[in-house]
Amino acid sequence: MNDSLTRLKNAVRDVPDFPIPGIVFKDITPILADPKLLATAVEWFADQARGQGVDAVVGIDARGFIFSGAVAHALGVGLVPVRKKGKLPWKTESVRYALEYGENELQIHQDAFAAAKRVCIVDDLLATGGTALAAARLAEKAGGEVAGFAFLIELRFLKGREKLAAYPVASAIAY
Ligand code: AMP
Repeated sequence: MNDSLTRLKNAVRDVPDFPIPGIVFKDITPILADPKLLATAVEWFADQARGQGVDAVVGIDARGFIFSGAVAHALGVGLVPVRKKGKLPWKTESVRYALEYGENELQIHQDAFAAAKRVCIVDDLLATGGTALAAARLAEKAGGEVAGFAFLIELRFLKGREKLAAYPVASAIAY
């Protein structure tokens, strides 16, 4: 890992038992608050997306939005949001997926890829991969082509990468 990624990793704050007992939450707000670290993170994402040869960035609700807008701007491409159910105002495609407890539903606008097709999907963290896989299915339902994924953090022990085996996956920091 190079020095700048080590500095990113050192800034991630572990918060035990949030939001529920047994989860160690990876808090990225110390990275966001530091201009140099934020720039490093955005540049890392932009390098991944550029390498995947994309013409749009897909951001996942909600922490994925923090990076995806900046990355799309850096590449000079557009941003497509994947949102939690009920947030998008136009006609949508939906995918439901299982969480550890219960289930979740994500949506994308049906016309999201009218202007662009090949996308990099951006989120802050890859855990089990359920959220990311649902975002890929949504992008494909709406006519997009998933070039790959980029995550600031990967929790390797949860094996999300295996769920995304059909796609290139990049992560800046792994645990
Ligand atoms: P998953 O679908 O299991 O890969 O979960 C990924 C989503 O949940 C991402 O959008 C993350 O923001 C969030 N998430 C899951 N586990 C954590 C964690 N330990 N710390 C911070 N965010 C997490």
